[in-house]
Amino acid sequence: MLPKNQTNRNRIYQLVHERGSISKPEIAALLGISLPTAIQNVKSLQQEGLLKEGEILESTGGRKAIAVTCEKNAKFAIGTDITRNHISIVLINLAADIIESARVEMVYDNTPAYYQEAVRLINQAVTVSGIDPDDILGAGFSVPGVLTRDGQMIIYSHVLGASALQCSTISRGLNYPSVLCNDANAAGIAEMWKHKYRTDAVYLSLSDTVGGAILLHNELYLGENQRGGEFGHFTLVRDGLPCYCGRQGCVDAYCSALTLSRHANGDLNLFFERLNNGDKNIKPVWEQYLSYLTTTVNNLAVSFDCTVILGGYLGEFLEPYIEDIRRSVAQVTTFLGNEDYITACAYKKEAAAVGAALLYIRPFINQL
Ligand SMILES: [Zn+2]
Repeated sequence: MLPKNQTNRNRIYQLVHERGSISKPEIAALLGISLPTAIQNVKSLQQEGLLKEGEILESTGGRKAIAVTCEKNAKFAIGTDITRNHISIVLINLAADIIESARVEMVYDNTPAYYQEAVRLINQAVTVSGIDPDDILGAGFSVPGVLTRDGQMIIYSHVLGASALQCSTISRGLNYPSVLCNDANAAGIAEMWKHKYRTDAVYLSLSDTVGGAILLHNELYLGENQRGGEFGHFTLVRDGLPCYCGRQGCVDAYCSALTLSRHANGDLNLFFERLNNGDKNIKPVWEQYLSYLTTTVNNLAVSFDCTVILGGYLGEFLEPYIEDIRRSVAQVTTFLGNEDYITACAYKKEAAAVGAALLYIRPFINQL
């Protein structure tokens, strides 16, 4: 096939993917290609089971046009999020819909027994889903840590207490191509997928540790040492509280989810329940937190001048407070204007697992 044709195929697939359903004449018009070229390419994608003809589009008077839609379930990918205390598994299709998911409490342990159990759980999820293993593109693993650029080794992970850990060790016995991704980067990828119309964003992961991801032109910016976006170690307070990294005053020591949950028996749900109920002991804790978060978000805004997505464990609780956060940032920011760029994450749970699975979905779509 000619490269030009491949480009048209790819553009057509992306357009249908974006629009949901569209007619062939519309495809031709929007992409500036001839109708026969559009028809020929749609046909080839149909033959591969990636596009299908769907409902007849409402006509505005002329001939009724048949809509072309994506066959979302043509391919799938597995995403697994490994944290210190849990393992979460998702199976997603080409539209990133979660087809199957499982979350198991399982304390991380760098032993063959742990990895065998993880692989068993993944295979079990595949079986339960009824998906043909031949239709699975690969398995992405989200892990907290700094990785090699090729995603084949964890250089070190403070949270897991692991270093020089190979992807092949984790995925041994799993019959799919596998790759690792930093957890905050994976969650950032998932969020960008949801915010399709945006191409640049920073993601601030507010979990038991604070991390982040930088997404520029729809791609992760990893930095020279794969440490780009480690916002948890911005210095927030000179000579401040100790951080797990060994330094003092890092954002992590002030903005991690732990700084809130430790006031509610380690339970974030309970913290926000008490806050909503006007608990007098909880309110000042939240206000103090908001003040540190404001400085952090403002620093991100000044640095990147783009959408700031607040996620991590805290993300699912932030929607009702997003206006408070915007107002608070507006009070300190240098560049006055619209604070709508600050937003709560779209995925309330499983963002990192979905993002890890997207490591196989995105390239598949891009190479069509
Ligand atoms: Zn630190």
